[in-house]
Amino acid sequence: MRCPARWCCGVDGRLAEVTAEADPLDVVIVGAGPCGLAAAVAVQEAGLTYVVLDRGCITESLTHYPYYMTFFSTAERLEIGVVPFTIPEPKPTRREALAYYRHVVAHHGLKVRQYEEVTEVVRPDEGRSGFVVHTRGRDGHEGRLACRAVVIATGGFGEPNRLELEGGDPDGRVIHYYKDPYPFFDQDVTVVGGGNSAAEVALELFRNGVRVRMAHFLDVFDRGVKPWVRPDIDNRISSGEIPMHWGSRVARLGSGTATIVRGEGREATEVACDWVLAMTGWRPDRALLHGLGVETDPVTGIPAHDPETMETNVAGVYIAGVIAAGFNANKIFIENGREHGGLIAGHLAGRAEPGG
Ligand SMILES: Cc1cc2nc3c(=O)[nH]c(=O)nc-3n(C[C@H](O)[C@H](O)[C@H](O)COP(=O)(O)OP(=O)(O)OC[C@H]3O[C@@H](n4cnc5c(N)ncnc54)[C@H](O)[C@@H]3O)c2cc1C
Repeated sequence: MRCPARWCCGVDGRLAEVTAEADPLDVVIVGAGPCGLAAAVAVQEAGLTYVVLDRGCITESLTHYPYYMTFFSTAERLEIGVVPFTIPEPKPTRREALAYYRHVVAHHGLKVRQYEEVTEVVRPDEGRSGFVVHTRGRDGHEGRLACRAVVIATGGFGEPNRLELEGGDPDGRVIHYYKDPYPFFDQDVTVVGGGNSAAEVALELFRNGVRVRMAHFLDVFDRGVKPWVRPDIDNRISSGEIPMHWGSRVARLGSGTATIVRGEGREATEVACDWVLAMTGWRPDRALLHGLGVETDPVTGIPAHDPETMETNVAGVYIAGVIAAGFNANKIFIENGREHGGLIAGHLAGRAEPGG
């Protein structure tokens, strides 16, 4: 049965608080990551009506991180909504962060709708202001929400940078999400990449009974490898405990093998390989922004926006969090992306940021 509300999300009675309103919401926030949630606190405190929609659960991205990871940021730098993040150690684990952000949502009573994907945001016909947000629930039910402004906080993990392998990956041996080392015990694994994730994954595998090697298309590690990780990985490579194929890529998979080619393909080495862990980064999904007419820099991938307000070149469309970083997700993370919500709320409420 279709919901009788004027702007219907069409899922169930839990949504009545939002959908039964005859007037458009002030803001729809797309994405319930740490930065989308920080934006929700800010707009709520500014007295604006809003809802946060996420295609997954709250802080979905963090659920995909390695199970036993520790954040590089200290807890207070990950805080949002002035809720203290109190832990006995300086840096939280993934589990502590997940519990913390869930607590922030409950503490502030944030209006979040989980498992509702935003499929499109459209501007209504000429002469009418605002936006219509199209959504799809887990059961495939489609809905619509009207709003005056929209905040795109969809993060930087839209699509993995996939390896292009000759013959593809018919057996599903290439993995982009790494959780923990145990499925790989006594297996041959090639870790692809030269960033911090690749280095940390290789080390964790090495220490858990996995025969691991690395391949990176450049001849050096990325500058983003953490200073405390660097000596460890350098030493494992120079001792030969983790063989490293610099300037190389995995070209194809064979039965229990991979062919790693160096440079322009003149040098090919076949190595034992059961799995390839592709720590090759992710690209933001900018389809919603492009559909709205937001321009992005073709080189940096950064959406055109005013850094003082986070409003894009399309009036009423804002960005928050790591999506503002374009292709370089190392420029914006929770530590600084959490500030975007305050800028947006200040602009929407028609007042300057305190201290700004
Ligand atoms: C291993 C690892 C360690 C890290 N450690 C740190 C650290 O120590 N400190 C730090 O500051 N940062 C760290 N980061 C980076 C940090 O996690 C990200 O910068 C952060 O998640 C960005 O938050 P966000 O809210 O912008 O985006 P995200 O957390 O990616 O949230 C985006 C949300 O949008 C949702 N979404 C996407 N598309 C749609 C759609 N169409 N409809 C509805 N919902 C949608 C997603 O489901 C997701 O929940 C780390 C990252 C990794 C991978």
